[in-house]
Amino acid sequence: MAAIAPTSPALWHPDLYVGRPAADGPGLLRSFVDGRFVDTGKRFAKVSPVSGETVFEVAEADSATVDAAVAAARSALRGPWGGMGERDRAVVLRAVADELDRRFDDLVAAEVADTGKPVGQARTLDIPRGAANFRAFAEIAATAPTESFTTVTPSGGRALNYAVRKPVGVVAVIVPWNLPLLLLTWKVAPALACGNAVVVKPSEETPASATLLAEVMAVAGVPDGVFNVVHGFGPGAAGEWLTTHPGVDAITFTGESATGSAIMRAAADGVKAVSFELGGKNAGLVFADADLDAAVAGSVRSSFTNGGQVCLCTERLYVQRPVFHSFVDRLAAAARDARWGWPADETIATMPLISRAHRDKVLGFYDLARAEGADVRAGGGVPAFGDARDGGAYVQPTVVTGLDSSARLVREEVFGPVCHIAPFDTEEEAFALANDSDYGLAATVWTRDVGRAHRAGARLDAGIVWVNTWFLRDLRTPFGGVKASGVGREGGVHSLDFYSELTNVCVDLT
Ligand code: NAD
Repeated sequence: MAAIAPTSPALWHPDLYVGRPAADGPGLLRSFVDGRFVDTGKRFAKVSPVSGETVFEVAEADSATVDAAVAAARSALRGPWGGMGERDRAVVLRAVADELDRRFDDLVAAEVADTGKPVGQARTLDIPRGAANFRAFAEIAATAPTESFTTVTPSGGRALNYAVRKPVGVVAVIVPWNLPLLLLTWKVAPALACGNAVVVKPSEETPASATLLAEVMAVAGVPDGVFNVVHGFGPGAAGEWLTTHPGVDAITFTGESATGSAIMRAAADGVKAVSFELGGKNAGLVFADADLDAAVAGSVRSSFTNGGQVCLCTERLYVQRPVFHSFVDRLAAAARDARWGWPADETIATMPLISRAHRDKVLGFYDLARAEGADVRAGGGVPAFGDARDGGAYVQPTVVTGLDSSARLVREEVFGPVCHIAPFDTEEEAFALANDSDYGLAATVWTRDVGRAHRAGARLDAGIVWVNTWFLRDLRTPFGGVKASGVGREGGVHSLDFYSELTNVCVDLT
């Protein structure tokens, strides 16, 4: 195992909790190839969404670094990792989870510095799920059932068929910035559990926790070359070089649907397997028989959590007419009452958007909604702080009514803290409105009618239907989207189906 230099002494400075660069300047984040951190000399700045100041310098991977990472992964498959059984790999994965627990505070600091998310959320959701992903997939891969069949041969004898799971090979993992460690480990853990080697490209907006994960992997005993990180951008950069690389066998991607299309085109040349978790324009249906307190509280969470920057967030709410006005009033009041604070404040749920560029996009949707005749019931602008946060990327949680179903705010993914609320009369109409979308990732239904709950599960075009809850996940369950929201399913044994190849062995027993 190569000795691992600390990523940067400045990286974990407590000032980063409030988005300020550490006193001795921003830390340097480097790519990780074959068990070593590498520096190309070319830099880009990672800017704090809290204050707009540079928090990290990132060494951008050039094409030679991507080549080296893919070669290291290929060669690791020929080493001890390739020969290891799944139970031994599970031991290594559990060691990774333990080391993630040990570096918990560093990872929280990294995630908060990159995203500006509230430290309480990083502590209770983002970072614990990193370790949970490794523990879950260690177990799932080690205990996955195999299938066997007995076949009658032409001579009347018997043949035994059984399927053997094998790694796919070198897997490219490309992830976005909204839940950086959670989404990265959701893919890396099953990929490694199945015996693959990975080259990871984190978002250019969130390079820190992936860099720290490299340190974790090395300390936990993951052999050199099994886990590699290349930092950089998408088109014409590390992302594209990785997805078009002939040495990559499969691509797993989470991000925008348009990026998924571009990657699918790139993957076509090499006939590479793809698994895509893409955008959403998720509907929430509130029926008049629902527990309205729970529906309001649940919709506040589903619309505004993580600054509305979760693929599963609700951006379209449909509310049955008898409770429409009171629901709108209550959701708008909750949006107006959102408490602001610095990320270090344990009591807040608000946060900035990831960047000024993303804020411009979200504010553009707010302006567009007004131009299309929307009634803005709460928010619609930028909060003023009178301190360094005015240099950040904050927007107000926003509630809008009055648009028809062809309006762009109702059709396109905004990926910000905004929802449009429209009334409906019948269950049939509610299901039709929810399904009237190019996307199909998640839907949320608030009702006390058990029959309706099950009908919703069957009728709604979505990969996940939540009833009287939101964002409750069991890592053993299938996860993915329909229509423009994705290709394939990950989660539980479904992840094994993507990250491994099945070879059927047929033995004539006569
Ligand atoms: P994005 O598509 O812009 O970028 C995602 C990643 O792809 C980044 O690492 C980026 O550098 C890389 N990339 C961009 N262009 C590329 C190219 N041509 N080739 C290779 N790599 C490329 O997405 P984002 O803005 O980072 O994230 C927000 C999006 O992610 C939203 O649409 C959201 O709904 C989606 N998302 C989906 C899920 C899900 O599970 N379905 C989860 C989280 C986020």
